[in-house]
Amino acid sequence: MRHILHSDANCFYASVEAVLNPDLRDKAVAVCGSEEDRHGIVLAKSEKAKKAGVTTGMPCWQAREKCPDIIIVKPHFEYYSKFSKYLHEIYQRYTDYVEPFGLDECWLDVTKSLKKPMEIAEEIRQAVKDELGLTVSIGVSFNKVFAKLGSDLKKPDAITEISEENFKSKVWGLPCGDLLYCGRAMAEKLNRIGVKTIGQIAELSHEYMMKKFGKAGSDLWIYASGLDKSEVAHKDHYEPAKSVGHGITCVADIRRLDEAYKVIYALSQDIGYKLRAMKLKARGVSLGIKYKDLSYQGYQIKLENPTQDEGFIAKTACEMLKAKHDPMHIIRALTITAINLENENANEQISMFFDYESRDKREKLNKVLDLIKSEYGKDAIRPAIILDEDKMPKKEQGKVLPGKMHK
Ligand SMILES: [Mg+2]
Repeated sequence: MRHILHSDANCFYASVEAVLNPDLRDKAVAVCGSEEDRHGIVLAKSEKAKKAGVTTGMPCWQAREKCPDIIIVKPHFEYYSKFSKYLHEIYQRYTDYVEPFGLDECWLDVTKSLKKPMEIAEEIRQAVKDELGLTVSIGVSFNKVFAKLGSDLKKPDAITEISEENFKSKVWGLPCGDLLYCGRAMAEKLNRIGVKTIGQIAELSHEYMMKKFGKAGSDLWIYASGLDKSEVAHKDHYEPAKSVGHGITCVADIRRLDEAYKVIYALSQDIGYKLRAMKLKARGVSLGIKYKDLSYQGYQIKLENPTQDEGFIAKTACEMLKAKHDPMHIIRALTITAINLENENANEQISMFFDYESRDKREKLNKVLDLIKSEYGKDAIRPAIILDEDKMPKKEQGKVLPGKMHK
């Protein structure tokens, strides 16, 4: 039998902010995506903000309405990656099989360890708390899917074991949607045929799930039955990113194109930074538009020349929006994704019509900007389009790492 842990850092962004600035400890905190008040959205919230009804993706003004004493801070992605690395270092004391799932979650395969999995989980929980000032919730199980589920069951700062003996009583009564890879649409489809719980999925036949929902249905049946055999990747395993998008996209209603452009520029900022950090270039850009009536339109365009320049990505997305947008519709959310990624050094087809000189200039400029950002924080420099004179960055949030970080 395998021993798999899934460790999930609780309220990761907000918790890191509280480590950087202890004044935020135990307060209602929201990390908001853009300082532009009108379009700022909640990227993450602290436990206290969550209790007050603040949710991820909610516009900041609404978060303030829900929770008047909320403290809104800007994201510091550089620190989130740093803390993510520190977490991995703790995990790697126990195994080389550490597979990240986003910045704040990891699977660990500790089958070969001499220590008992519950003991390892307890040591990790304590080490993360003592050394980093963060809390994690950990699921301990015999496969990845149940380990992940276990880490969701009790939080923050908790450990849940889902064993071969207890999984039917612990897991089967939970709603289908709690299962990894069972999205809302799938959960609704299952509900419509009377399947409400994970146990009910397992009680159907594999053939039926396969016939009715194809590969996705087959997988869900395997997961629900506790038969997931997928392996935890080695820490050095490199999975090339297929796309880099801005994860959270809900914004306040947008009626005019110029308002939408600002959001697009703000969203693209992060994409360029990430692409350069990962040494990747995009050969395409996709734009998702969600309208107030909840209808959705997705568009994508191929780029003649690959790019990692947020300005170019934003411009391309704006052009797509301009071409496709129906002014009668009010926009609710926008997603920008850099797609068809390739190594930044990949050969490129030379085109007679492309302005290489100005691109090279942009590239050099971006590298300098990245340096400034890594020194002074991501908000030190922003394109003029998202600057509002009266909304210049207020006080920079605390940046000093506490002494215990450098133990
Ligand atoms: Mg988390």
